[in-house]
Amino acid sequence: MSKSLPKRSEDYSLWYNELVKRAGLAENSPVRGCMVIKPYGYAIWEKMQRILDDMFKKTGHTNAYFPLFIPKSFFSKEASHVEGFAKECAVITHYRLKNAEDGSGVIVDPEAKLEEELIVRPTSETVIWNTYKGWIQSYRDLPLLINQWANVVRWEMRTRLFLRTSEFLWQEGHTAHATAEEAIAETEQMLEVYAEFAEKYMAVPVVRGIKSPNERFAGALETYCIEALMQDGKALQAGTSHFLGQNFAKAFDVKFATKEGGLEYVWGTSWGVSTRLMGALIMAHSDDEGLVLPPLLAPTQVVIVPVFFNETQLSQISEKAKQIKQALEARGISVKFDARDTQKPGWKFAEYELQGVPVRIAIGMRDLENGVAEVARRDTKTKTTLPLDNLDAQVADLLNDIQESIYQKAYQFRAENITKVDTYDEFKKVLDTKGGFVLAHWDGTPETEERIKEETKATIRCIALNAEPEEGTCILTGKPSARRVHFARAY
Ligand code: AMP
Repeated sequence: MSKSLPKRSEDYSLWYNELVKRAGLAENSPVRGCMVIKPYGYAIWEKMQRILDDMFKKTGHTNAYFPLFIPKSFFSKEASHVEGFAKECAVITHYRLKNAEDGSGVIVDPEAKLEEELIVRPTSETVIWNTYKGWIQSYRDLPLLINQWANVVRWEMRTRLFLRTSEFLWQEGHTAHATAEEAIAETEQMLEVYAEFAEKYMAVPVVRGIKSPNERFAGALETYCIEALMQDGKALQAGTSHFLGQNFAKAFDVKFATKEGGLEYVWGTSWGVSTRLMGALIMAHSDDEGLVLPPLLAPTQVVIVPVFFNETQLSQISEKAKQIKQALEARGISVKFDARDTQKPGWKFAEYELQGVPVRIAIGMRDLENGVAEVARRDTKTKTTLPLDNLDAQVADLLNDIQESIYQKAYQFRAENITKVDTYDEFKKVLDTKGGFVLAHWDGTPETEERIKEETKATIRCIALNAEPEEGTCILTGKPSARRVHFARAY
């Protein structure tokens, strides 16, 4: 059996990295900051993609694909956008290699220099709005509701598997509308899609909010976000939805003929979630034994492990196990029957715990004789003996129960880790002792936010959409504030 994981309480960061690797989710690659997503990790990502894609289609969007490379000049068209992304762009200058004359290996052919350099997309607003110019002429072409599944590159300095990588997989929605109201409604709708996905499928409760100007997407008028809390008390931005106003329409000259016969700039939105969601999923629920996956995202929801000492026993148990597997599959549950005789049951139990398979059914000869099986749930690690007849119905209920209780546990954790503070001293103390979300008054200025960030490493995660109006004074400057905002140290 592989050695146990580091403990969360001792080294959270090491625990996370080891878990990602040992559970077979991802590993580092020869290129710093870029990861290899392994089959088990990709299977979870595919489930996420499928569910999200259905949600996008239900809200009227269709998929399309735009190029990986963006001409450099496109970036100069929207000033704040280029400023936001300039520091982390990968730039292509040449298109050919050749053998060095001194035989020292392959070099870039200096003669194969591109006339205009290309940027590997860090996000696709520019190339997409450049395309929309050709697609939008009249109000009849609106709204234009498009999503793209793609990879993007942001040259990140401090990287961590899934949470922050230089290349990541994501989807980016880019929509165009006739009015500001419609575009804002779209921005809010997609935020709610993300929130629903996080809570219902990932079992991760999120705060819905808007970003302060400091944290706003480069080129947006407003950035909406969902923020989740990890088990170490740090926050994670799990998804963003941007109201772009007419910024990109103006930059790329995208106008439409209105019903009334006028000519106006189009209103835009963009919204995205990435493979960071994998990091959120892992960090939010897993424990010192391994992954804890919510059933709705687990590639394998149930594993059946036979406990046998010889071939005859295995074939008797297998017969029953296959019936159970079929009955579960008929209910749409994914099941693995692990009849390998190369590994002992105990080894398999540990392996499936590491992989976070929500339910394990173990059947031995005595169970067979008694018409029962041992059913273990991964989240609470409790075991029960259940009768074999109607086992499928009971396991289906159990899976629902696990999904719900994983969410409740995360919700409870978050509730215990939201602290209201009224002074800067208290603020710092809470951050250093328990972390979590700290609800405090802020005077609304970028300078104050910046100073708090420098002094405490905490940032404003968001101004919650449901924040109650409450008169107060800024914890740093004592200036008036109309509501508390969510501060936290974040990934
Ligand atoms: P943005 O375009 O900056 O609003 O980001 C869109 C989504 O991608 C958000 O959900 C971010 O949390 C996520 N994201 C941003 N940078 C990274 C990164 N380096 N690695 C993984 N996900 C990221």
